[in-house]
Amino acid sequence: MFARFLPRSPHAEIYTQIRSLLTASIESQYVRVNHDEKSMKFPQIWLRDNCCCPECFHEGTQSRIYKFKVGVRAERVQALDDKSVQIEWNDRHTSVYNLKWLGERDFSPENRQKYIDEFYRLKHVFWGKEDFKKECKEFEFDEVMGTNEGLRKWMEALAIYGVALINNSPKEKTTARRLADRVGFIRKTHYGEEFSVMSKPDAKNYAYLSAPLPLHTDLPYYEYKPGLNLLHCFTQSESSGGQSLTADAFYVAERLKQKDPKSYEILTKVPVDWNDIGSEGGGEGFHSIYRSPMINFDADGRYNRINLSIPQRDSHFTVKLEEVIPWYEAYWKLIEILKEETTTFKLKEGQLLTFNNLRVLHGRTGYDDNETNVRHIIGVYLDWDIVYARWRVLKSGK
Ligand SMILES: [Zn+2]
Repeated sequence: MFARFLPRSPHAEIYTQIRSLLTASIESQYVRVNHDEKSMKFPQIWLRDNCCCPECFHEGTQSRIYKFKVGVRAERVQALDDKSVQIEWNDRHTSVYNLKWLGERDFSPENRQKYIDEFYRLKHVFWGKEDFKKECKEFEFDEVMGTNEGLRKWMEALAIYGVALINNSPKEKTTARRLADRVGFIRKTHYGEEFSVMSKPDAKNYAYLSAPLPLHTDLPYYEYKPGLNLLHCFTQSESSGGQSLTADAFYVAERLKQKDPKSYEILTKVPVDWNDIGSEGGGEGFHSIYRSPMINFDADGRYNRINLSIPQRDSHFTVKLEEVIPWYEAYWKLIEILKEETTTFKLKEGQLLTFNNLRVLHGRTGYDDNETNVRHIIGVYLDWDIVYARWRVLKSGK
């Protein structure tokens, strides 16, 4: 563009006018929009489908009402002013597109990646054992509950690092629930809306024993596995045990990929049968099953779900006979790295350990209760759909 040759002179007005020159033209099945030094190209079919006029788009519900027709093409394209482009279509319709709106939807690789990493799902930062202290951000309960900025920052830390601590929460049985309600609403499971983790003499779930609980993700046997775990430390064990264990399974997977690509591939491809058989609160009983590999990805090839739980891996393993032994060998390679990258710390009363249940593995060391000291953790689940829906509103400042 010639704008760059103009001197930044007293003729500021002229400079601005020329600098913001907007042109639009038809290029085969596309429309080219040039503005400043930026050139954008949009498919005509997409432009027609996304007309923003009241006939094609319902403002109140922010929804398309245009019904797609085949063979629609642009007949005339022009820049109306320095902020919008008008297109006359062969279906006798005219559309006007705002330049800012077009810029936000630019198909360039940089713009698409920016949208995915900064608005769709925040880009992950992986951490190993050594980085845990630095990457596990801490928040005050009152700050998260009382300010939108506190709420947004906590959700961002969870999205990026997968883990965050909340300090100084009230010693009330409803604390974890209140935090979930602050975001949206609790995700209910077979174990109820709130679950108490404390040793129970007639435990129906492995977590309800005082024995060590190896690293795992919760509920791998659900197709719709809860996305986040909020664990409120109501009473901590005075014994030396009851320490929390955590590890970033995305980081562990990434290390396995570098170290042993073949094992990595096996754990991304071979489906495992996850199951849980039980009954809770005198209910009818349930038998949950879901088949899925240990390491899973989203549509953009990013890690989006790890499944790992020793007690909840079924003895049914419905893969080809010759896939079984290589799977165990690959699994063992992952466990070796996991042992190196596991961090240990002891939650204090009033702290909430919050983490991404699709990513961060958790467990605890064994402990001893006595009559006056019973370790008690109260947990609730949330779903990422609910967290992200709230976060995007806060981010947009709506
Ligand atoms: Zn329209």
